[in-house]
Amino acid sequence: MSQSEFEIIRRYFEKTDLSFPKTGVELAIGDDAALLNIPRGRLLCISLDILVADIHFPFSADPEKIANRALAVNLSDLAAMGAEPLCFTLGLVTPENNPSWLERFSAGLVGLAQHFNCPLVGGDITRGPLSIAIQVHGLNEPGSVIRRGGAQPGDQIYVTGCLGDGSIALASIGVKSHLKEPLGLIEENLLETCKAYFDTAYYYPQPRVTLALRCCHLVSSGIDISDGLLGDLGHITEASKVGAELDTHLFPYSESAICCTTDEARLRAALFGGDDYELCLTVPDKHIGEFERLAVELDTRVTCIGKIVPGNTVECHDQKGELLKIEEHAYEHFL
Ligand code: ADP
Ligand code: MG
Repeated sequence: MSQSEFEIIRRYFEKTDLSFPKTGVELAIGDDAALLNIPRGRLLCISLDILVADIHFPFSADPEKIANRALAVNLSDLAAMGAEPLCFTLGLVTPENNPSWLERFSAGLVGLAQHFNCPLVGGDITRGPLSIAIQVHGLNEPGSVIRRGGAQPGDQIYVTGCLGDGSIALASIGVKSHLKEPLGLIEENLLETCKAYFDTAYYYPQPRVTLALRCCHLVSSGIDISDGLLGDLGHITEASKVGAELDTHLFPYSESAICCTTDEARLRAALFGGDDYELCLTVPDKHIGEFERLAVELDTRVTCIGKIVPGNTVECHDQKGELLKIEEHAYEHFL
C-alpha cells in the first residue's frame, strides 16, 4: 500500500464531516476502541449487515452509491426496531489501496451519517475481496421497542413506500437476484427515466427511521422488508403466533415498476424479491387514525395491505377475494 493503514483512516474516515462529535460518544476513532455513554434507562440496539461485491452490488459500482446503500440498509434495521441512530462502525475489506475509490466511498457515507446524526466511531480495514460490514448502534426507549412478536388478530398490516422496487432494480442494473426465475422486465418500456428511478431505489433506499421513532408506540409489531414481503411478514406471524391475510390488489407499486413489469412479475417481486428496505408494521385498529395522520405529517407513504388473523398461515387474495396459490419460497441465505 502506498499509504499506510493509519493514513487511510485519518484521511478518509476520521474526517470531521463523518466522524463528528455527538453526545454519548465519549471516544471515537483513534484509540483501540470507541467509548459510548448509554443514558440511564435506555437500551443499546445494535445490528450488523455485510455487503459483498458481486453478490450485493456490482464490483465496479460507484463507491459513493455502495457506501450509501451499506449504511442505509443498516439504518433500516434500527428503524425496524424503533431505535434512534447513535453511531456506526465500519469494517472494510478492499483488494487495493485506491485513493479515488476510498475518497468517493467515504464521501458516500456522509449524507446519511449527517442526516441521522449517526457518526462513524471506529472500524477496521484490511486487504482482501471487496466487502463492507457496517454495524449500527442505536438507542431505544424500553417501552417502545418494535419487535416481531406483538401482532394480534384484527391488527391492520401496513407497508411504507412501494413494494418490489428492490428486486426490479436488480434486474434493471443487471445483478442476479435470488428469485428462482429471473423477473423478466419489459425491455422496451425500460426508459432512461425508469432506469434512473431503479438505480436510486436500489442505492438510495430511504431508511424509515423518522416514521418508526414517531409511531413506535402505536404499532404492535414490525420488520423491515429485506428478503421479500411474504418471508418477512412470515417472521412476524411466526413470532406473534398469528396468521395474516393480504389483499394483493392493494399493494403499492411505483410508476416505473408498473411500466416495466407484468402484473405477475410485479407481484413476484413484491412477495419474494426483497431488497426493498421498507417497513412492514402491524397497527391495532384503535391507533390507525393517529398512525395515518403521522405518516401524512411526515410525508411518508403508508398503505394498508391486509390484516392479522388467527391461525398460522399467510394467505394472499386477489381483487375478487380469491385465494392465490403461492409457490416460490422467500429468500433464505445459503439455500
Ligand atoms: P488496532 O490495530 O488496535 O485494531 P487499528 O489500527 O485497526 O487499531 O485502528 C485504529 C483506529 O482507527 C481505531 O480507533 C479504529 O476503530 C479506527 N479504524 C480502523 N479502521 C477504520 C475504518 N475503516 N473506519 C473507521 N475507523 C477505523
Ligand atoms: Mg484493527
